Amino acid sequence: MSRYRGVRLAFEKKPAILLPTAELTDIGQVVLPYAYPTDAEVRPTVSLYDTLRPGSPLSEVEGEPFSVVRSSVTGVVSGEKEISHPLYGELRCVVIDCPPETPAPEVEISGAGADTLDYILTAAEEAGVIDELDGVPLSLKLQEWRETGCDFVVGDAVEVQPYSSSAWATLRGNAEQVAEGVSLIATYAGASGWHIAACLSASRRRSLALRIGKKRLFQADSRYPVREPVNRRAVGKRAKVCRVGVQACLALYRAVRMGRAHTHAILTVAGDAVKQPQNVMVPFGTSVQEILRRCGVCDDPSYLILGDSMTGVTSVTQDIPVLPGMTCLLAFTAAQVRPTVTRACIGCGRCVKVCHAGLLPFEIHRRYENMHYERIASLAAADCDGCGACSYVCPCGLELAAVVQEAKRSGNTLLLDLEEDTDA
Ligand code: SF4
Ligand code: SF4
Repeated sequence: MSRYRGVRLAFEKKPAILLPTAELTDIGQVVLPYAYPTDAEVRPTVSLYDTLRPGSPLSEVEGEPFSVVRSSVTGVVSGEKEISHPLYGELRCVVIDCPPETPAPEVEISGAGADTLDYILTAAEEAGVIDELDGVPLSLKLQEWRETGCDFVVGDAVEVQPYSSSAWATLRGNAEQVAEGVSLIATYAGASGWHIAACLSASRRRSLALRIGKKRLFQADSRYPVREPVNRRAVGKRAKVCRVGVQACLALYRAVRMGRAHTHAILTVAGDAVKQPQNVMVPFGTSVQEILRRCGVCDDPSYLILGDSMTGVTSVTQDIPVLPGMTCLLAFTAAQVRPTVTRACIGCGRCVKVCHAGLLPFEIHRRYENMHYERIASLAAADCDGCGACSYVCPCGLELAAVVQEAKRSGNTLLLDLEEDTDA
């Protein structure tokens, strides 16, 4: 059996991980897309000056109830705007002003209650539950897992990246509900078992085990990226394991048991430009600028990253709304970020040692940079999941992960482009 690769990352979760989750209220305004990106026809169902309650649908989407976005607040529609979101691309959005009044009761999604398979799926669809691990609607995943088979479900709270502790914050406040959400997913998918995987200190592990049961908690390895958040000897070597984020599990529990839409995110706000690093719960659509202001960000942070430092994407603007899939927000001063000094590869082999996909990042990088596209095909760039471990360890500061991902995205088109150029 081959040795597992990966890196040990710095632990920068304090002090956010130690503090209780702060619920940000009196937000003032949220900006929400009518629908998540889709090719289907989107018909807005709200107009200027309409009053909305949490859970009010903003549109109808032909054949795709899971693409509909619901209001996350009590408020009044005050306009419309187009935005370019770093995670979702171009979005047509509704602007909702939220006066500081008593929130109206939430709109219940249809048919609450029964625990049938049909209802679990309908609740996930109607509530608009999105898996924060990848931004995919949970209902699509449930259908796929049921159709193609799923042996074991993992509620994934591992988050071994340096800053994130939003999964822990979700569990700390709602462990029992998250566990029931994972159980509902396992029931729907036809899995024979489930657990929640996390990477916790001994005291946190004990307190969580008391709440959900020792057998329902799996302590993952702290090496990054996580190998597999299951014990293969227990679940079987060939068992198909399906992972889902704990915020999505909680949202499913609330949809099925309480008829509530998925309207809030828990995210870690941290970085040296943030005076009060903490986990916050905010309605979807809250602007990043407002969150940073509440957490005491310095005047002009030099870097803003949506996501953690290994896999997050930088954003040039704070004027973007929080949407599902965002679980970490980092703001850094220039002093904190190493200037990138790039040198030619010295052949140290570190990138190969850490690559858990067994790739040769330096070789893909070299061939890509030298436009030897025809030779990239044999290097399996498609197996790269963009974990960033190779870039992290490279002493020459090479952007290996970005290049391997680019080679993966381009796939065979690289070769076609090359042929076209040669023909011209
Ligand atoms: S980013 Fe891709 S190539 Fe680099 S270590 Fe991760 S899986 Fe391997
Ligand atoms: S880690 Fe960097 S310097 Fe070392 S072999 Fe890989 S690309 Fe070259």
